[in-house]
This record gives sequence, C-alpha cells and structure tokens, in this order.
Amino acid sequence: MAPDLTLPPGVRLTSQRRALLRLVAEWRGSFTVAELHERGRRAEPGLGLATTYRTVELLRASGTIHPLLGEGAHVYVRCGPDHHHHLVCTSCGGVEETALCAAPPPEELRRVHDFRPTSHELDIYGTCGRCA
Ligand SMILES: [Zn+2]
Ligand SMILES: [Zn+2]
Ligand SMILES: [Zn+2]
Repeated sequence: MAPDLTLPPGVRLTSQRRALLRLVAEWRGSFTVAELHERGRRAEPGLGLATTYRTVELLRASGTIHPLLGEGAHVYVRCGPDHHHHLVCTSCGGVEETALCAAPPPEELRRVHDFRPTSHELDIYGTCGRCA
C-alpha cells in the first residue's frame, strides 16, 4: 500500500477498509463509488455500499482522492502528494497528473482583486496521446 494512502486518526482500519485502500492505490484512471464497491466485493464479499461511500468520503477529505467535477459529482481519481493538476481524457477516461500549473500568482491576485489565495483546483479535459 502506498504510504500516502491513509485514513484520518481515530478511524478504524477494518479489513474491508484495507481492501478499499489497496484498490484505490492500484486503480488506474477514474472510478465511481459503484465501481469501487463492485471490485471491493471480490476481495471482501460482505463489503457494503455504505461503507464504500464512507471510506471514499474519508479519502476525499484527506486529499488522497479528488472528485472530477466536470465528470459528474461521483467520479474520483487517486491523487499524489505533490501539487498537481489532472489531465482527463474524454475519449478513454484516462487521468494523468501534471506538475504544470497555470494558476494566477498569489501576488497578482492580491494586486488585482485584493484576494489572498490558499489553494486552487483545476482539471483539464481533452484527448490523450493514445487517443489523438
Ligand atoms: Zn490528483
Ligand atoms: Zn485517451
Ligand atoms: Zn496549481
């Protein structure tokens, strides 16, 4: 299991949750809660949909996974620990991380809008090299 795939302190790591974390760590591309639940049940037949939802919510809250808002509310991708953005292929559904960041510099936002940014999110949709 990847070391950055952790649940918040105080959350019990049951064998079902462990199976879900392992699945998310190995998952390629984006996934829905239903897909995760279906695959999770192969390892843990008693795995419930509610447990899957709750675990996904914990992973989202900890920044381990990220919801792709352009794809509907319930599509997620696994996230690395460093600052990055997502390149989402609308043809094959593949998701790649890029360290390229085009967000406005904080000093520019402060000058133009008198705004002090603390974070930003940006997903970029298009066609990947394999699908072009
Ligand atoms: Zn990410
Ligand atoms: Zn593609
Ligand atoms: Zn950025």
